Amino acid sequence: MRLQEYQSKLLFAERGIAIPRGSVAASPEEARRIARDLGGAVAVKAQVLVGGRGKAGGVRLAGTPEEAGEAAAAVLKMQIGGYPVHKLLVEEAVDILQELYLGVAIDRNLRQAVLMASAAGGVEIEQVARDDPKMIKRVAVDPLMELDTAQTQGLAKGIGLPEELYSTFNSVAHDLYEAFLSYDALLAEINPLAVTDTGQLLALDGKVILDDNALFRHPDLEQLRDASDETLAEREAREAGLSYVYLGGEIGCMVNGAGLAMATMDVIKFFGGAPANFLDVGGGARAERVAAALRLVMSAPKIKVVLINIFGGITRCDEVARGIVAALEGIESRVPLVVQLSGTNEGQGRKILNASTYRLTVAGTLTEAAQKAVALAGGRLEA
Ligand code: GDP
Ligand code: MN
Repeated sequence: MRLQEYQSKLLFAERGIAIPRGSVAASPEEARRIARDLGGAVAVKAQVLVGGRGKAGGVRLAGTPEEAGEAAAAVLKMQIGGYPVHKLLVEEAVDILQELYLGVAIDRNLRQAVLMASAAGGVEIEQVARDDPKMIKRVAVDPLMELDTAQTQGLAKGIGLPEELYSTFNSVAHDLYEAFLSYDALLAEINPLAVTDTGQLLALDGKVILDDNALFRHPDLEQLRDASDETLAEREAREAGLSYVYLGGEIGCMVNGAGLAMATMDVIKFFGGAPANFLDVGGGARAERVAAALRLVMSAPKIKVVLINIFGGITRCDEVARGIVAALEGIESRVPLVVQLSGTNEGQGRKILNASTYRLTVAGTLTEAAQKAVALAGGRLEA
C-alpha cells in the first residue's frame, strides 16, 4: 500500500523527523486559507501516488496567499502520470542549501534492510542509480542488531556531508530506519532531505510503501489507504478476500492456488495467448465466493474468454461448478468460458456445468483448456 506524501511525512514526524509546517487542501480557497495561516511563501504540492511531480509542474512555489490559491487552482486541474489531482499539500516554503536523498528499502539479495543515502537528492533515485551508481552509498542493517551510529556516520561521510551535520544526519537516519521497521514498510524514503541555511535537515518529500501482508498488525494504518491506489476491481477483490492482479491481456484466469495460477498462465502463454488477469479464489472456495470471483475476472476491459482451472482438493469441484452457474445467471456478459475441473467431485462438477445453457466448454486437460481459450480469444470460434 502506497501512502501519499503528506501521510508519509506525518509518519516520519511521529518518529521525530523534522518536516515543514503545512496541511492538506482540496480547493483553491482552502489552499489560500492555509497559506495565510502559515504566513510567508508556501509550496503547493499535488498529492498523487507517483513520483516526478516536480518535473510535471505539480509542485509550485507561491509568495502570497493569492498566488497559493492560483497555484492550487492550476494544480487541481492537472493529471500527473494518469492520476487526477484531488488533494494538495500546502506547506511553508523552505530555503534549500542542498538536496540529499535518504531511504530504507529491503534488499532481496542480501535479505536485509538497506539504508541508502546520496548527495544527488531531489532527482529520482532510480535515475541516479542508472546514471551514476557511485553517487548512492548503501549500508545493510542486520535484522538482529541495532542500526549502528558508525554505519550512519559512514554514510554521512560517504556522501560528503560537512562534519557539523553528522549528528543531525545520524538521528534522521535512525528515525527513518525505526519508522521503516515499526510500520512494516517495504520502502521509506525522503527525497529531498533538505539541508537548510540554519543547519537543519528537513524532509521535504516523503514516500512510504507499506507491506500489505503486515497491515493486519497496523489497523490504524489501513485507514490511510487512498482510493486512487487501487482500481475498482482490485478493491472489490481485496474486500472479498481474493487475490487479483490485472494484467491487460484477453484471457481471464480464475484458478485456485497461486502456484496453479502461475502454471496456468504459463500454459496460456505457451499457446500464444495473453492473460487478462490473475485471480486466485483460494482453497475451499464456496459458491458465493466463486461467483464474486467470476464477475471480477469478466470485468477486465479487453476480456474475450475466461479460463477456469480448478484442482479440487479441499475445494470441491461441484461447489465451484454451482458458483459458476450461479454467477452466470446474474451476468449480462456473453464472454465464453472454458472450464477444467479435476479432483474432488469432478464428475458432479462437470455434470452441473454441462447442464448450463451458457456458452461454456468443459475441457478434459489443462492443455486442451488453454488451447481452446487461446483459439476463442483469437476469434477462431469452435462450432
Ligand atoms: P517529486 O518531484 O514528486 O519528487 O516532488 P518533491 O516533493 O520532491 O518536490 C520536487 C522539488 O521541488 C524538490 O526537489 C525541490 O527542489 C522543490 N521543492 C519542494 N518543496 C520546496 C520548498 O519548500 N522550497 C523550495 N525552494 N523548493 C521546494
Ligand atoms: Mn521527491
